[in-house]
Amino acid sequence: MQMPEQGREWPDIETEMMARGQGDAQWREGKTAVYVFNAGEDIAAVQKEAYAAYMSENGLGPLAFPSLAQMEKDVIAMGLGLLHGPEGSTGAMTSGGTDSITMAIKTARDYARSKGKALGKANIVLPQSAHLAFDKACHLMDVEVRRIPIMTDGTYHADVEAMIAACDESTVMMVGSAPNFPHGIIDPIEALGEAAERKGVWLHVDACVGGYFAPFARMNGIAVPAFDFEVPAVHSMSADLHKYGYAAKGASTVLFRSEELYQHMPFDMNQWSGAPMKTPTLAGTRPGGAISAAWAVMNYLGIEGYKRLQGGVCETRQRVEKGVKRLGFEVLGDPMLGLVAFRHPDHHAFAIYGEIYRRGWFTSVTKEPPSLHLMLSPKHSEVIDEYLADLEASVAAVAAQSGNAKKADVRYS
Ligand SMILES: *Cc1c(COP(=O)(O)O)cnc(C)c1O
Repeated sequence: MQMPEQGREWPDIETEMMARGQGDAQWREGKTAVYVFNAGEDIAAVQKEAYAAYMSENGLGPLAFPSLAQMEKDVIAMGLGLLHGPEGSTGAMTSGGTDSITMAIKTARDYARSKGKALGKANIVLPQSAHLAFDKACHLMDVEVRRIPIMTDGTYHADVEAMIAACDESTVMMVGSAPNFPHGIIDPIEALGEAAERKGVWLHVDACVGGYFAPFARMNGIAVPAFDFEVPAVHSMSADLHKYGYAAKGASTVLFRSEELYQHMPFDMNQWSGAPMKTPTLAGTRPGGAISAAWAVMNYLGIEGYKRLQGGVCETRQRVEKGVKRLGFEVLGDPMLGLVAFRHPDHHAFAIYGEIYRRGWFTSVTKEPPSLHLMLSPKHSEVIDEYLADLEASVAAVAAQSGNAKKADVRYS
């Protein structure tokens, strides 16, 4: 596209934009189980209005916009309140999980260096199932990543002993996920905590996808093991609001056990020509709307609202587990929250994925081991039976193809 010589009328532009969306994944109908968290039209309306109300304001300027500064503080306080943040714990809002993880690594590295550790090349130790945002951040900061294979006992847990063995004097962080994205499984955070304490290493819990889910699952009576600041060795956490916090996109939290740790995060430098500018996170300009929308949705839902929504998602996940087992799938490990992955003993998951995709579902896959992957939203309670019926048809289609392929093998061999 070349920029039009003359501007166009908005109604004309709007029509074209909406037409362009016609070919996208049908998330409004609940046909996606990745990328979008569909919690209903009332929440979408709150997101939109609250975002628009502070869309032009800039979180970079707390003195100009004390309203936003206070909303951010409130959001952090609400997050810490859910995640057993002790007295003195603190944090900041970021643009997303990748931003939160990047800042946590930067903070852990600088903290270690302030203690005279890891003055050369730093490293972090994490399970193979941890999110690739850690590698991206380490690539940016020239930190070595030590990915450790996970347990092969069917739990899909981090291998704590192997992780301990991989630590040395340059290790600035150990990581556990709550839950990890590929399998939806919560790592044994207490055991990792003991290990980290023994090694004197900073433990980060990546609760990007679970931080605003697991506390409510627990309140609903699900036996979620300790995974947050309740575990004394946990130094920092990443928890995304734009996932199961149901906030507008561009909102995550990075949280620290204490001000002493946090103080290594903000960037403050005044050796330049411009006005002094202190930034807590990776961003300079920070969209005010992302802050106000998160604040509004958290207030709109309250604990009761989140309990209800997450309870519904857990119920849907149980229906998925039951339904896919009936079709011969094996569910990976013991998922407790909104993610679930499952594989078939006879048919390759990616072949089934192709079939279900052709039936209009935009879902995801896990590579290790090859599995189908769903990230469930409240909306899915309405469509999950339809999904399971299409999954059954997909398995049958793949079975028929492989049956034909086997017959063909016999014929030509
Ligand atoms: C989504 C996710 C991230 C990355 O978050 P973004 O907001 O996509 O940058 C990191 N870790 C886990 C476990 C996630 O699910």
